[in-house]
Amino acid sequence: MSRYLESACKLCRREKEKLFLKGERCTSNCTLDRKRGKNGPGQHGAGKGKMSDYAKHLREKQKARRVYGLTEEQFRHYYETAERMKGSTGDNLLKLLELRIDNVVFRMGLASSKKMARQIVNHGNIVVNDKKIDVPRYQVKVGDTITVPEKYKSNSVLKKLLEKTSTNIPAWLSLDKNQVVGKVVGEPLPGESSHPIDSQLIVEYYSK
Ligand code: SF4
Repeated sequence: MSRYLESACKLCRREKEKLFLKGERCTSNCTLDRKRGKNGPGQHGAGKGKMSDYAKHLREKQKARRVYGLTEEQFRHYYETAERMKGSTGDNLLKLLELRIDNVVFRMGLASSKKMARQIVNHGNIVVNDKKIDVPRYQVKVGDTITVPEKYKSNSVLKKLLEKTSTNIPAWLSLDKNQVVGKVVGEPLPGESSHPIDSQLIVEYYSK
């Protein structure tokens, strides 16, 4: 799978908002929290002038793509799948993205960033319904049980993360911290994404 080669902070500066791509550093030592880092990268980063409608649509799509760490091709694939589903394409798109196993691992608090969550999945440290899942794009569904292999339960980083995990878990997920067992108890509703995204702008981007 191709990955972003740009620095994570540069992506945030480009979108002019914190996308929380670096885990703990995003709350303790973020460049965007310092005045100088608020401009976009490059000499034109300050972004003078009003954005065109096209630019607004493009930026929202790019923001969503970056939040979920996807390539252009992967993101378009999700959009086309969402379009074929019943109901609102925008809501379907966000639902598909939220139900990726790497995102679920992040939202359960088993990783401090989505990048870390992808690594945990890639390294075979996630088990869904008693089956090892090592593909970050794997889609979970309501009723699925998510856990980690016995040997990974003693991992010091995981233990530290679990100490902090509490109120941030969304309503559609549950987690037993002692057993390290999570469950998908519902589907993410519009507005329950890990980051505020206006999916309608993305639909308009692809509808042109
Ligand atoms: Fe960098 Fe995180 Fe701040 Fe984004 S939110 S600029 S990734 S530290």
